[in-house]
Amino acid sequence: MNWNQTFHPARLEERLENNVVRCHLSPRNCRIRDGQHGFCGVRANRGGRLVSLNYGKSVHATEETIETEAVNHFGPGERILSMGNIGCMMNCSYCHNWKTSQARYVSDKDVYYYSPEDVVDMAIRHGIRVISWTYNDPVVWHEFILDTAKLAQEQGLINLYKSAFYITEEAIGELLPVIDIFSISLKSMDPEYYRKITKGRLEPVLDGIKQVYKAGKHVELSTLMITDISDNEKSARDVAEWILEELDPNIPTHFVRFHPDYKMRDTVRTPIPRLMRAREVGLEMGLEHVYLGNVYDTKWSNTYCNGCSAELVTRYGLNARITGLDPRGHCSGCGRDAHFKLLPKHESAITTIDEPLDGLEVKSLEWHGDIRSAHAQLLNKSSETVSIYHRRRHSDCEVEPWKVINLLPSESYRFILAKGSATEIGPEVAMPAVVTSNLHEVFDRAHFPTISIEEEGIQMNDISPLPIFSTRTLPVVS
Ligand code: SF4
Repeated sequence: MNWNQTFHPARLEERLENNVVRCHLSPRNCRIRDGQHGFCGVRANRGGRLVSLNYGKSVHATEETIETEAVNHFGPGERILSMGNIGCMMNCSYCHNWKTSQARYVSDKDVYYYSPEDVVDMAIRHGIRVISWTYNDPVVWHEFILDTAKLAQEQGLINLYKSAFYITEEAIGELLPVIDIFSISLKSMDPEYYRKITKGRLEPVLDGIKQVYKAGKHVELSTLMITDISDNEKSARDVAEWILEELDPNIPTHFVRFHPDYKMRDTVRTPIPRLMRAREVGLEMGLEHVYLGNVYDTKWSNTYCNGCSAELVTRYGLNARITGLDPRGHCSGCGRDAHFKLLPKHESAITTIDEPLDGLEVKSLEWHGDIRSAHAQLLNKSSETVSIYHRRRHSDCEVEPWKVINLLPSESYRFILAKGSATEIGPEVAMPAVVTSNLHEVFDRAHFPTISIEEEGIQMNDISPLPIFSTRTLPVVS
């Protein structure tokens, strides 16, 4: 059965004459006739009622770190459970998750079915305290997120919403009681850019950011700097100016490196000097915390105290370690507020051992080019609980202990392996014969790869696989 054959009642419905409905979830406000779907491809009219076609339908749940979501000032290094779905209310020409964000390209093999209880149980069982609603875009998963985030909140978990935030005021109002962190992609301050490249509009995004900021939520903003389009000083200046005028200089701001993808493949990655200049512009204008995203081997991913210049958090790619913060999130040297929200220590989250049992199969991957992280997806095919192990390998012969993950009978689990230092050459994963595994190369943060190394081999460049456009089409948008 195709993923879009079942449906769930949708919220934010307006019923019109002749069995027509209007959707008030995103500012598109699609008017949908019976049997048709909206722009996103995942909300439809069935018998005169608005329905969600993707409730509980997800890409594989994936353990990552909070830095994957461009969140640097909330629980540095915290493990998160990333949940992505299908569809999007926008259609950005450079989307690196286009195989899941554009509903017409979604393949049934990439769709997993979860209940709200499944998600919360998985997070708790694996010692994860933050659920991240991410990847394609959480806006179009509204009903499932509300149900699951509420359950997660009741269990003491934190909810993170990583989005392009093309969403209505009414829908944000429903999210505010259950979402703690908003990581929002503010793509540009140019309305024309939004219209042409994202197929959305700028104003509702700005209004939404102000709404969550005023509600007192933890907010971080990121801007993708597209080569020769938006990787210039003016883009950085316009973003910084708006943050300073409308929000707060303490909002962490990320200027993010672009890689060619989807309909924008005939170009190159953002030159790093342009990102460095964008960061300088932000700081010169008065922003307190400006970071580079998708850039390794730079100290500008770290946090330094703006009072005494002490290093407060060390980051390498998607890894972070607190080095100079006190429990309040202030500099432990001079006491200046560094605008962090810290979580209590979580000692029991990860078990390690020095050597795994003999007889396990070991799979390894070497970091290459711009591939510095990967998803490992493992399936326990037995009726017993089993353990799998993973660790980093270093060129300087440093040996790390193995981290242990326990898998229930028949459990499928996916987690990120991310390069953590300049000396790391790649990860290895050890597992018993009853476990099958796939490794997926990740292109930049918050990318959900759908094709594994086993299927397509190692990619020796930094450009993601070419689009393979399916010929299957859904009914016409009204
Ligand atoms: S794009 Fe989807 S979410 Fe947005 S208004 Fe249309 S149907 Fe609703």
